[in-house]
Amino acid sequence: MSATRRAEIAAGLARVEERITGACDAAGRAREDVTLIVVTKTRPATDVRLLAELGVRHVAENRDQEAAEKAEACADLPLNWHFVGQLQTNKVRSVANYADYVHSVDRPRLVGALSTAVERRERGPVRCLIQVALEKEQGHGGDRGGVAPDGVPELAAVIGAAPGLVLAGLMTVAPLSGAYAGRPGVAFGRLVEISRDLRRTDPAATMVSAGMSADMEEAVAAGATHVRVGSAVLGVRESLG
Ligand SMILES: *Cc1c(COP(=O)(O)O)cnc(C)c1O
Repeated sequence: MSATRRAEIAAGLARVEERITGACDAAGRAREDVTLIVVTKTRPATDVRLLAELGVRHVAENRDQEAAEKAEACADLPLNWHFVGQLQTNKVRSVANYADYVHSVDRPRLVGALSTAVERRERGPVRCLIQVALEKEQGHGGDRGGVAPDGVPELAAVIGAAPGLVLAGLMTVAPLSGAYAGRPGVAFGRLVEISRDLRRTDPAATMVSAGMSADMEEAVAAGATHVRVGSAVLGVRESLG
């Protein structure tokens, strides 16, 4: 891959590192309490390789077919693969081949399918995050992925009882509708509150996955442990996704 692309990615990483460090300083948090996950969707495997060379250890994808190809092309790299997209039951078996983390668990049926698939693999457990659709608290959100906040305890119990799965925490995407629209900081604060409730029954479920290129500062301020950043590292994507 070209030296130019490497320099571009290094510069993107440096800018994002500066933003995360600044947000940690402002919030009185230690930098190592926040993990950067670089979202590599629509980007070639050569970018993933450059990221690994530059020290990135966590990458995320949102579509199974693309993720499966990239993970295979990068199987020699010391990377943790995060699946962050809406997940259909018929894709679960493929996702189980490469995913170390699934951030988008939002219904019991998915849990059963994932558990069965993981039991067949040799890679160890999948760490599951429950995707919370905060806007569903007010009846918004329609068929967007994610469970309403009041559905979290039940889903946590289902994951906790599923062989091969570990309940790792919660994930959200800043709502586009409802009372949280345009207020990512408030939304992420609510997610952290739900996370506190969850940790009363599941103390090990400490991950709070929130914040993207546009709102990583708000996420760090609210208490996110993992930010998922794509375009601010790799450039603006041409296609939607
Ligand atoms: C694409 C995506 C991101 C990263 O978005 P950017 O705005 O490019 O940082 C984060 N989370 C999910 C679930 C995504 O689909």
